[in-house]
Amino acid sequence: MALSHLAQRFFPSVLWRGDPTLPRVALTFDDGPDPVNTPRLLDVLAKFGIKASFFLQGRNVEHYPEVAAQIAAEAHTIGNHTYNHTRLILKSRRLIYQEIKHAEKAITRATGSSTRFFRPPYGQMDWRALKIASEMGYQVVIWSALPWDWKAKIPKKIVTATLSCLFNGAIIVLHDRTPELPAALELIIEIGKQRGFSFVSLEQMICSQ
Ligand SMILES: [Zn+2]
Repeated sequence: MALSHLAQRFFPSVLWRGDPTLPRVALTFDDGPDPVNTPRLLDVLAKFGIKASFFLQGRNVEHYPEVAAQIAAEAHTIGNHTYNHTRLILKSRRLIYQEIKHAEKAITRATGSSTRFFRPPYGQMDWRALKIASEMGYQVVIWSALPWDWKAKIPKKIVTATLSCLFNGAIIVLHDRTPELPAALELIIEIGKQRGFSFVSLEQMICSQ
């Protein structure tokens, strides 16, 4: 059973979609920051005046702190995605805590602010990890749609797959490092807007619920 279904059942506090009555979609970008692709994604988002959310790996933030700082400066939501992108299943309490804490420290150092959202790598975590992240004060976020952008080799495929995931309150996962994504993102936003959707950050999605 997918985590989203289990989470709804046993952990209603896990966020996997927004308000189903509003035509709003949250684009989320995982695994960055990437020194080349992330600034290109930020340019596209800025062109449309749209806020999105970035779940950053702590180790990448340490490599590219200036890119993390740019994401924050442009008022996008930043989330914690662990330090090493470790799968949080059957891991010790200490390791889980350190993975989250070290990422948090890297993000705070780079951006000057702390994060409120946490997404487990691969969208997978056991009850222990879920409990620890919640106790640390995070809103745990998974997703409602995964267009598999990293498998697509041409922008058109990413556009088609992502557009098929647009529905009220959708939280969509894409990946900073997919080389074709910046080109695809322009079309996704353009066509999505034509279809009546607005794109919001998780912060915006939560605040107005
Ligand atoms: Zn990831």
